[in-house]
Parts: sequence; C-alpha cells; structure tokens
Amino acid sequence: MKSLANAMSRIPPDECGPFAVLGKATELERQGKKILHFEIGQPDYKSPEHISKAAIDAIKDGYTGYVGTSGIYDFKEAIQDEIETTRGYRPNLDQILVVPGGNTGIFLAMASVLNPGDEVIYPNPSFPTYALAAHYLDAKHAFVPAKEKNDFRLSPADIIERITDKTKLIVINSPQNPTGAVTKKAELEEIAAIAEEKDIFIFSDEIYSKMLYDEKHYSCSVQDSAKERTILLDGMAKAYAMTGWRLGYLVAPKEIINKMCQFVVTSYSCVPPFIQKAGIAALKGDQTFIQKNMTVFRKRRDAIVKGLNSLPNVSCVTPQGAFYAFPNITKTGMSSIDLADRILQETGVACLPGPAFGECGEGFLRFSYSTSLEIIDEAIEKMRIFLETI
Ligand code: PMP
Repeated sequence: MKSLANAMSRIPPDECGPFAVLGKATELERQGKKILHFEIGQPDYKSPEHISKAAIDAIKDGYTGYVGTSGIYDFKEAIQDEIETTRGYRPNLDQILVVPGGNTGIFLAMASVLNPGDEVIYPNPSFPTYALAAHYLDAKHAFVPAKEKNDFRLSPADIIERITDKTKLIVINSPQNPTGAVTKKAELEEIAAIAEEKDIFIFSDEIYSKMLYDEKHYSCSVQDSAKERTILLDGMAKAYAMTGWRLGYLVAPKEIINKMCQFVVTSYSCVPPFIQKAGIAALKGDQTFIQKNMTVFRKRRDAIVKGLNSLPNVSCVTPQGAFYAFPNITKTGMSSIDLADRILQETGVACLPGPAFGECGEGFLRFSYSTSLEIIDEAIEKMRIFLETI
C-alpha cells in the first residue's frame, strides 16, 4: 500500500488512552474477570428524562432534515442566554457555532488559527486531543507543565516563559482533565492579559464549567467577550450526562465562526436538529439535578482521595473540579504504564496511566471516579493488597 498522508502519520498511536484501556478491560471482562471501571470520563447516570423526551418529540415532529450550519436559531438563543448568565456577557448570534461534541470543537478551533510551524502552548498533562490536533496541523508544541506542587494549576509565569514570536495560541482547560485542577480567576485574568498584550489567541475548553466543588467558574473569555481573541468551548456531555449525543458549542470572534462554518459545510454539514432540540431542553430545563449530582460527586471525590492517600507509596492532591483524581505513584518505583497495567491484570481495577495525557503525566495515574462509593472502596482495598505485595 502507498504511504498515508503525512498529516495522518503524525498522529501518534493510542496505546494507553481511555479507549485503549477500555478495550483491554472489556476483553478481560469477556474472559470472566471482574473489572472495576475508572478509565472512561463520563457520568454514570443516564441523560435526564426531559432531555431525551425533547429529542424523541422533535423526531416525531419532523425535526429530521438538514439545518443551517451554525445551529438552529432557538438553540443559539439558548446559548446566548446561557453565556450571559454564566459568564456575564451576551455573545452575538454570529459568534456561536453548534458542534457535534467537544472534540470536534477543539479540532475546529485549532485548525482555524494554526499554520504549520506556529507554536501552541498547552498544559501537560492535558486532554490528548490538543496534542493530537497540533500534530495533525504540524504546529509546534510548547507545553506548560501542570505541576503537582501548584495543585496542577497553570502558572502564568510558566506561560510567559514559553511565549516566542511564533506563539499563536494558548490552550486553557479549567476545570482540567486529567487532574481536576481549577485555575484561579486572578491567574486566568493574568493569562488573558498576557494574550492581549502579545496578540495571541486563547482557546478556553470549559467543558467541565458546571462541575466545580467550591469555587465559582470563571471564563477568561470575559476579557474580550469572545470578540477578539478568545474561543470558548462548552458542551452538554459532562454536566448533562450526554456524552453519546455529541453536542457542544463554540463562542468566538465572528470572523472565526464564519470561516469554521464554511469548513463545516463540507464535512459534517450540521448538527442534527433533534439533537439541538435536546440541547435547548438541557439549557432551558431543570438545572437542580446538576447540583445534586455534584453533591454525590463530592462524596466520591472525598472517598477516593482519602482511599488513595491511605495506600502505600501513593499520594493524591484534592481535585477542585470535574471527576478525576490524579495520584502520584512515583514512590512505588514503577512506571505509570506498568503499574496501571499490573493493577488492571492483577486486581481488575481499570485506570489510566498519566502519560496518556502527555509526558509530564509520568509518575501519575488517572482515576475517573464517576462510580459508586462501594466500587471506590472495593477498588481501594484491592489496590491496597496488591501494593503491599510489590
Ligand atoms: N475537553 C475535555 C477537557 C474533555 O475531557 C473532553 C472529554 N473527555 C472533551 C473536551 C470532549 O468532549 P466531547 O465528549 O463532547 O467530545
């Protein structure tokens, strides 16, 4: 076979990411082994009934054809309201693009601003799609370590250190995957000010914006109301338990949205209208379940952090958002990949090795604690027995 496109061959193989580990864990399950799942980042509850009903009704009512690329009017209006209430500014309709999931939003945002050779600054460890899109686009990486001693928050000083005259984009993700870190308002304001001074775009992935334990969410898009340099991503996947619906949105300068729309016409064309109707039900319907779910998640967080800290040679900082714990395992003397694999094979606990999120993830594991307190306790006890024997 002839060689593939260079852009495709720049994409690294996924050997230890969520779907690779899920594949291994599912195969062990098929062979009869009991598996406790901590690898995939999605809520363990169903999409709320009123959201599903809105989609079913919309299908019955005939919302099944093509619609405008940027999104249906009512959903974009709901997004305007949402941004106004949660971020404090009202974007214009031409600043909004509805996307089929956050991942697509990340790719579109990065593809809109990065040329080959441009530099992109993003945290390491971080959600793998940033690195993947940067590789695909042949952009240069300049990562900022998300340091454990700083509770994995990005430091504005570290960002400044990495800025060159080639830097085109800074990627921010707060609350963060895989560490659960929440960057402070003052730090985000400082990063936004640096970007303005140096004329750099910001991509702010706020997919966990409704999943904070103590602090209030702050968006650095407030600085320019997403009119000049900020591209904001949010979506329905996490807080509304809609990962499989593939629904999110971008808020960005209208010139960027306009170009993205031209690109989208020739790819997925539009997000299905009945899915967008479900999005309206999500944003406009009952929101109280989110706080209730966060109360449940807080108990799980406290249980897993306490449990991990009680294990030999393991320590874990308390995450402030999302549903991920990122314990330090360096004292076990094993590499993250070997340890995650042995834990899976020998205890049936499926978690991810930190390097699945970049080289600075070495020495850590990621646990998605979107599971019951009983399973968390069982996993901790199984890992205790295993860690005491190595
Ligand atoms: N951004 C971050 C930080 C994520 O963790 C995820 C999903 N794990 C996404 C984006 C992608 O979200 P979606 O499922 O909507 O594509």
